[in-house]
Amino acid sequence: APLILWFRRDLRLADHPMLTAARSTGRPLIPLFILDPETEAIGAAPKWRWGLSIADFAARLGAMGSRLTLRRGRALEVLQSLAAETGAAGVMWSRAYDPVSKARDTAVKSALRQRGALAESHPGFVLHEPWTVETGQGGFYRVYTPYWKAVKDRPVPPALPAPDRLPAPQSWPRSDLLDDWAMGAAMRRGAPICLPYQAVGEAAAMARLERFIASRADAYKAERDFPDREATSRLSENLTYGEISPRQIWHAGFRAMQQGAAGAEHFLKELVWREFAWHLMHHTPEIATSNWREEWNAFPWRDDNPQAEAWRRGMTGEPFVDAAMREMYVTGTMHNRARMIAASYLTKHLMTHWKVGLDWFADCLTDWDPAANAMGWQWVAGSGPDAAPYFRIFNPAGQADRFDPDRRYIHRFVAELARLPGGAARAYFNAVPRSWGLAEGRPYPTPLIALEAGRERALAAYAERNA
Ligand code: FAD
Repeated sequence: APLILWFRRDLRLADHPMLTAARSTGRPLIPLFILDPETEAIGAAPKWRWGLSIADFAARLGAMGSRLTLRRGRALEVLQSLAAETGAAGVMWSRAYDPVSKARDTAVKSALRQRGALAESHPGFVLHEPWTVETGQGGFYRVYTPYWKAVKDRPVPPALPAPDRLPAPQSWPRSDLLDDWAMGAAMRRGAPICLPYQAVGEAAAMARLERFIASRADAYKAERDFPDREATSRLSENLTYGEISPRQIWHAGFRAMQQGAAGAEHFLKELVWREFAWHLMHHTPEIATSNWREEWNAFPWRDDNPQAEAWRRGMTGEPFVDAAMREMYVTGTMHNRARMIAASYLTKHLMTHWKVGLDWFADCLTDWDPAANAMGWQWVAGSGPDAAPYFRIFNPAGQADRFDPDRRYIHRFVAELARLPGGAARAYFNAVPRSWGLAEGRPYPTPLIALEAGRERALAAYAERNA
């Protein structure tokens, strides 16, 4: 009897523990992707990007004589009916650690097992299973540095080779057409605008890693904060769909470190921030929905408001913030330094709840990762574990002087401020919905709030909360 391989955020062939385990059974294998309500509900940009990843993965499987079956519906129902149709002995998948997926997967596992079917989950999405990293007292880590110390010398098993073939079943089950799923339908700006900025699929991800190690790892630490420089790996986009494994990246970074690349250890540390985010999400799933530190419930955050809408539109009148927001809209990504500044401006200068920002990022980022996004927002807002102290308020103008001294980043994305606006800056005006009423040639907006006044207001609210 065949096995069903339920693919989700693990769309690769190499270093795939579930695939290796499945291959070793000698059974025919039926790769499957389910568009279930949980996947259906994610933001516009990541959903569109996931669709590209599925198409690439289906082509890779096809090239080795296998096939990706596509089905839509509730996961358990789809799995049960496919098992009945194909006589499958069971299902294997790679583990997920967000609360929505965990609840779904736990229910699937127990229902399948109750019927005597095989239901097996495997690691691969993170380097270390979240429950295997424990403090001396047996709890989980709330602070990054001790977490890093706990994992930095842990052995990481070597990456697994890709299988050369996947045994096919006697006949292939019916499959939906990916186009019928219209995974890009909610991308109001239209897919083509973001497309040139994506590197889709396993081969592109590996090429990115190799390019980074060969030409950027050395200078990474010194250059990574400058948003106009191609200094970081951009692998977050590939990691989130599992087009590459963290283990492949870890080993490449580790080798570079041993060969003396100055920035390689720092790169590994950043990769471990991702681990830490999933560690936190596993142990405190509410990190994505409520203030991690409860004392923040008393803070007078504003709900969504017109100034937050101006922030979403890249029309705050604060050049670095607007460049960041427009970068995200046009490219599907945003530089890490810019994420911190844009998030700080929303939560501090505009005193708007971090959840408003978290939701917009979840809609716009092709590298959307529920754990990193939640940790990032709560870190900036000050409400998270190991967060930046609230009183450390980023000054977007000072940050621009430091990290964008020639204003190349700002000019790349804010047409009103550039002498000769380039393609990305102008694309923004074609990409935004007509209802936003933005047209090229409009004068640049005056700032929503003077930086010093915004800073003082936020600090005063903070002092009052603490009083
Ligand atoms: P590199 O500098 O090349 O780093 C290598 C890898 O390390 C990244 O690919 C990523 O997997 C990991 N990493 C680096 N920095 C962080 C970090 N601060 N937290 C967690 N992992 C990190 N990252 C996402 O992947 N998805 C998100 O939705 C996301 N939302 C964020 C929201 C806010 C408010 C903030 C401040 C940060 C957010 N980040 C998010 C983290 C970070 O900005 C991105 O991971 C990074 O910009 C990705 O670029 P890169 O791949 O070139 O990173």
